[in-house]
Amino acid sequence: MAKVKTAKLGNKVFDVFVEPHDGYCTDPQTTTDPVVGVPYGLPCGSRRGAKKGMESLIHEMLHALNFSKTETRVDKEARQMTNLLWRLGYRRIGS
Ligand SMILES: [Zn+2]
Repeated sequence: MAKVKTAKLGNKVFDVFVEPHDGYCTDPQTTTDPVVGVPYGLPCGSRRGAKKGMESLIHEMLHALNFSKTETRVDKEARQMTNLLWRLGYRRIGS
């Protein structure tokens, strides 16, 4: 597990970790050091899996902002936001 950054989401500062599994988020109301985890090795540009990586990150940020939202709602909102960003041409750069 590699901590890569911190991110302020809402009124909490989250440690951001990149790990070799699916994304996750800890409940900021019950955790003193809240964490957002994003999958390791996310593809860049338009490569296969890059859009899913963007959706995973947005999904976990939505949980961080409002942990009481249902998984179904977070899934839907993350997909909608990702689709708009993707259609506008936003991509992760790097190798
Ligand atoms: Zn979720």
